[in-house]
Amino acid sequence: METLTVGLGDRSYTIRGGSGILPGIGAFCRELGLGRIVAVVTNTTVGPLYYGPVADSLAAAGFSPLRVELPDGEEFKTSATMNIIYDALIDGGLTRDSFIVALGGGVVGDMAGFAAATYLRGIPFVQVPTTLLAQVDSSVGGKTGINHPRGKNLIGAFYQPRAVVIDVETLTTLPEREYLAGMAEVVKYGVVLDPQLFAEVERNITPILARDRDVLTRIIMACCAIKASVVEKDERESGLRAVLNYGHTLGHAVETLAGYGTFLHGEAVAIGMVQAAKLAEHRGEATADDTGRLRALLESLKLPVELPVFAAEAYREVLLRDKKARDTGLSFVLNNGIGGFSIVRLRDLSEVIDVCGIGG
Ligand code: NAD
Repeated sequence: METLTVGLGDRSYTIRGGSGILPGIGAFCRELGLGRIVAVVTNTTVGPLYYGPVADSLAAAGFSPLRVELPDGEEFKTSATMNIIYDALIDGGLTRDSFIVALGGGVVGDMAGFAAATYLRGIPFVQVPTTLLAQVDSSVGGKTGINHPRGKNLIGAFYQPRAVVIDVETLTTLPEREYLAGMAEVVKYGVVLDPQLFAEVERNITPILARDRDVLTRIIMACCAIKASVVEKDERESGLRAVLNYGHTLGHAVETLAGYGTFLHGEAVAIGMVQAAKLAEHRGEATADDTGRLRALLESLKLPVELPVFAAEAYREVLLRDKKARDTGLSFVLNNGIGGFSIVRLRDLSEVIDVCGIGG
């Protein structure tokens, strides 16, 4: 098992990662000094797989676990589902010294975290992420929240967990597409922040595709260390944290234009990263060789890299939907070679449109 600390003063916490560590969660929560009643928030897919070992371990350590099972899917990341959680917490008699365990992917983690942030004005919570995306990204850093009919993640809070427990064993049941989409976020950290991580992924394609537990533990913990250091410097996203949006600007546009559900988020990010690399190359911040390495790596992870064809006007409209983007230009993260970055503002989108071949 590996551990690392997210250093945020009195809100600091430990991330534990390893294979087969779920049965240790009860003892770990004991060490954290958490109260007796615990609501384990999960969903109808993850609950049947992992609630048992988590609840057994918690009960053996003297806790009283309560199962809260939500419907599965981004479409349920809503205020109506939040009420299911609040009702269960009230019915279960959770008090301010009770706590929540978020057992699932990013959707469950964001909602359970928001419930912890808001129930009784805040109770502790522990993240137990079970998708690769949640293990390398959403479980660390304290962003919690839900969607609103007018947009994704519009309602939420910054609220740090008390601990994160990552058992790579849970990835064995994750559908292939979800797993590979999570790998896009791993590659993202490498391209803009860590050339060694990028090279390690390049060297380990075969074990990665085979979901080798040791390789995964090492890579996931490396990503968590990077995310932790970014969050330590910029917890509330007033600057540096924006680097984590690399590949996301065009990625979001692709998700929107293709219709939500056509591409998984990580797949759209893979496409967006290659476009950002082309732009970096055009501006002399990266070489054709860097772009080629990125493209080849994503392709070997079976991720899409080609921008789907929609009219240039459609891309322009989606990219400039944000009022701030219209007024001050679109904020765009570029890679600097492999392992560095810069953040630029694009007032005029014609460069992106030409370089990325938008509109055919
Ligand atoms: P998800 O939570 O929807 O999980 C994907 C699918 O995998 C679901 O069907 C889920 O039930 C299933 N699943 C989860 N673990 C499994 C396992 N071990 N075995 C089998 N099936 C399993 O999707 P996600 O990609 O984990 O998260 C996406 C969400 O994360 C979005 O809502 C996004 O907004 C959010 N997010 C948040 C942050 C943050 O900083 N808070 C960062 C990135 C993304």
